[in-house]
Amino acid sequence: MVVSMKHGQTAFDHVPNAYETALSQYDRAVKHLSLDENVVEYMRWPRREFTVNFPVRRDNGRIEMFTGYRVHHNTVMGPSKGGIRYSMNVTLDEVRALAMWMTWKCSLVNLPYGGAKGGVLVDPKTLSVREKEGLTRRYASELIPLLSPHSDIPAPDMGTGPQEMAWIMDTYSMTVGYSVPAVVTGKPINIGGSQGRNEATGRGVIICMIEALKRKGLTNPGDISIVVQGFGNVGLHAAAYAYELGYKVLAVSDVEGGVYNPNGLDIPAVRAWAAEHNTPYGYPKGERVSNAELLTLPCDVLIPAAMEGQITEHNAPHLRTKMIVEGANGPTTTGADDIINDRGIQLVPDILANAGGVTVSYFEWVQGLQAFFWDTDEVFRQLERILVKAYDATVHMAEDHGVDMRTAAQMTAIKRVADALLTRGFYP
Ligand code: GLU
Repeated sequence: MVVSMKHGQTAFDHVPNAYETALSQYDRAVKHLSLDENVVEYMRWPRREFTVNFPVRRDNGRIEMFTGYRVHHNTVMGPSKGGIRYSMNVTLDEVRALAMWMTWKCSLVNLPYGGAKGGVLVDPKTLSVREKEGLTRRYASELIPLLSPHSDIPAPDMGTGPQEMAWIMDTYSMTVGYSVPAVVTGKPINIGGSQGRNEATGRGVIICMIEALKRKGLTNPGDISIVVQGFGNVGLHAAAYAYELGYKVLAVSDVEGGVYNPNGLDIPAVRAWAAEHNTPYGYPKGERVSNAELLTLPCDVLIPAAMEGQITEHNAPHLRTKMIVEGANGPTTTGADDIINDRGIQLVPDILANAGGVTVSYFEWVQGLQAFFWDTDEVFRQLERILVKAYDATVHMAEDHGVDMRTAAQMTAIKRVADALLTRGFYP
């Protein structure tokens, strides 16, 4: 897949196919598990793939056709769960990869869900609010046969947020004739969203980073420098929470480019500046860097929180970090994994590091089903408990089998789904 290069988006014009990465990670992990070969083959396949082509009326009166997908990778553990992405990189293969990663992510943190993902091939920045609402509602209505609180529960992902979830919830509710808040998560709080859901993914990234640092005896935040790629929902909240805890955040970026200050950035100030200018790129109290340059800045922890395929075999030899904590889904290719492992760089994999989002989505779903809502302290306390438990399970698997953290996380997750599948049995 060739993506067009914005200023320094990535230094390479070839972004590896995410589904190839997901499948090669899976093949690696199952090699260390003695599973029934029928089970291994079954879990390799997406269960359902839904493609829709639908019309949206533009503000100039013309109708434009858009293509969207929803893939259910595996539903052995429960209803399928996963976000919806609006981006110009959306392909069926990308959605397949992201759906598969959701299956493993939900299993790793022990949520009663299978994995799904959706995507619409659109640049949301080119739509007016009215057009975005039209696109979201029509896409949601195309997905109606799949959706319900007990079958498939969407959430935000790249290019979508609480407002899109509100439109999906409303479209579904209008169709069935009564309000069903639990059909989506990541909703605004005033219609049944959970406290802490917006911050959850970024906060979870930092909780996992702290676990990894603690195991190396590194407990003083002021001594640790962090570089964050991406300033969307994940990168922004990861940087903000790290800053709040006293870590030194040296650089942040978005698709336009990044800002770097070796003495540390004032993240609330960068955030305010970025809100005004629509990007942190150009923030005056730091140097401008491209995204490619940002990835190879010297730091203790690198947090890729933008998109898949950013750390490749081309730039992995040049990384100057001691640890990578993956905020994005699939930011590292399999070739890069080998180099990172050889170089002794510690990696906390995506399905663990960014599982905070779907974990609080689960809390939101539970709160919606019970119509009983929790306060922020309760949400963050339960979030930390679940992530630390998953972190421990991954470390145990890594130690028991002598494998890296990604393989260990995948093995832990895959084994649970495999066991559940065998308990349920193959139908018919
Ligand atoms: N899109 C997020 C992810 O990749 C959240 C999914 C969810 O909350 O269902 O994990």
